[in-house]
Amino acid sequence: MANVNPHYRKLQAGFLFPEIEMRTRAFLENNPNVSVMRLGIGNTTEPLTPTVVAGLHEGVDLLARPETYSGYGDEQGAQALREALAQRYENYGVALDIEEIFISDGAKPDSANIQSIFRQDNAVALQDPGYPVYVDSNVIGGRTGGGADGQYEGLVYMPCTEDNQFFPALPGRKVDLIYLCSPNNPTGAAATLGQLKTFVDYAREHRAVIIFDAAYAVFISDRRLPRTIYEVEGAKECAIEISSFSKEAGFTGVRLGWTVVPKALVCEDAAPGELNNLWLRRQTTMFNGASNIVQQGGLAILSEQGQKESQELVGYYMANAKTIRQGLEGLGITCYGGDNAPYVWMKTPGGMPSWAFFDKVLDECHVEGTPGSGFGPSGEGYFRLSAFGHREDIERAVQSIQDNLTL
Ligand SMILES: *Cc1c(COP(=O)(O)O)cnc(C)c1O
Repeated sequence: MANVNPHYRKLQAGFLFPEIEMRTRAFLENNPNVSVMRLGIGNTTEPLTPTVVAGLHEGVDLLARPETYSGYGDEQGAQALREALAQRYENYGVALDIEEIFISDGAKPDSANIQSIFRQDNAVALQDPGYPVYVDSNVIGGRTGGGADGQYEGLVYMPCTEDNQFFPALPGRKVDLIYLCSPNNPTGAAATLGQLKTFVDYAREHRAVIIFDAAYAVFISDRRLPRTIYEVEGAKECAIEISSFSKEAGFTGVRLGWTVVPKALVCEDAAPGELNNLWLRRQTTMFNGASNIVQQGGLAILSEQGQKESQELVGYYMANAKTIRQGLEGLGITCYGGDNAPYVWMKTPGGMPSWAFFDKVLDECHVEGTPGSGFGPSGEGYFRLSAFGHREDIERAVQSIQDNLTL
């Protein structure tokens, strides 16, 4: 007799994005002549840049000739790509060995899978609100009890609120794994060096491990802010960094990311090098490498011309973010984010519950956003608007909110 993994049964139904999809579809069925402007799911909309397209074509062409054909590649990813990424970190003032960089098919799979190299009874702390994958992967990994109202027993939720500028205080009890995301999805907050240092110091003292999601690092416009956790002294001893080309270069559907597991990383029962080795073992067992064609595209992103073009792409989305934030602030709505991240995190007027506000904005303005409470209990009373979209759609959505939202 086979049995299902019981931890999957703890996952709460109505995962955020399917629920949004369902409500939007129901609205459209009742209002067949309306078009909904979608600022909900953070999905990229602008085409790949010319240099990246050429890189991907080259990846295909290499496979077309016997002398340049390749099959399975380097297990950790193409050496040239890892060298180019090491160069990016070098530009941030961080020296990495290419054996510390693991190329993957994206930051979501890595951030979900990384928990598997840690013991099941490790205590997990997460930012609240946060990217739902960290919670759900630890539920599946058996590190929680049951769930109710979007919270699971056994997890340590670290509230990120107006009062702490959306960066959490240290957990009140000893924890072993700490998930941090900066710039943050959904709040748009980007951590300072000093804020990150509080966690690095804590992790080093307690031999805890920080799992740092840097998927939005290139959206940081304030040059004083760190673009990698390794800018904090000592972070290599206690932090894993996960990142992606998805948002930076429109690779959401193409799929390419990377994870840094420093050789200096330690935890309670692992000496330097062991965690790096375990991740290699995990990836070589459960994953067979990112597509060689796509890695060629990644190399093109990191070329000088590719970087220029992707900065323009990022600038395009950030101009959208500014339009959203200014439009809402013009209505007297309190907004956060949108300056170092492509998300605007707005307070719902009058403290309206997030889902009620979702329905209201959909109904009155035909705009789809994301209810803050879907990212964790402390997201209640907030609403996320994504800056990923065509300029005209963003402008139309903001105009519609200005014209039609009753306050
Ligand atoms: C979009 C996003 C990712 C990217 O995931 P990919 O699998 O690389 O597309 C990772 N982390 C956060 C917080 C995100 O918002």
